[in-house]
Amino acid sequence: MNKRIALFPGSFDPFTRGHEDIVLRGLQMFDEIIIAIGYNSQKSNRYFPIEKMIASINEAFRQYPNITVLTYSELTAELARKHNARFLLRGLRNTTDFEYENSISQVNRQLYDELESVFLITTPQLAWISSSIIREVHKYGGDVSQFLPYKL
Ligand code: ADP
Repeated sequence: MNKRIALFPGSFDPFTRGHEDIVLRGLQMFDEIIIAIGYNSQKSNRYFPIEKMIASINEAFRQYPNITVLTYSELTAELARKHNARFLLRGLRNTTDFEYENSISQVNRQLYDELESVFLITTPQLAWISSSIIREVHKYGGDVSQFLPYKL
């Protein structure tokens, strides 16, 4: 049987415990999950360096050979096609996420009609964790270690 491969695309600046939760819950449905960091080296304004984030995510999932990390700068639908991923995994925290995800998933389906988007509702205790809040806390010297599944 064909492996069920899911792509989990995002900016992951940084990758948080909220993201980790989506990936680990996704593993109950998929054989493989590819964490795909959208990144354009020409015009990147990331806060956390891309190399650091790749290494950190690899560290967080080192006991899971079926979770891999890569970076990409093309259409997510194209990347999914290349990797034989027929599922796009995303998380939903609130109605703002829903509005955004709804339109993105319609576009992705137009671009690659066998691509099915799968949404997991956030775990309540992690619902408020966002990369932007973590960047803000970190910028002003706050301790963000409890929100991240690896050591910075
Ligand atoms: P993007 O820039 O594509 O929105 P993010 O890195 O911010 O990328 O998020 C990637 C995915 O993870 C999105 O589907 C987002 O809704 C989801 N996500 C982010 N934080 C959480 C959280 N705390 N709980 C559940 N899902 C989350």
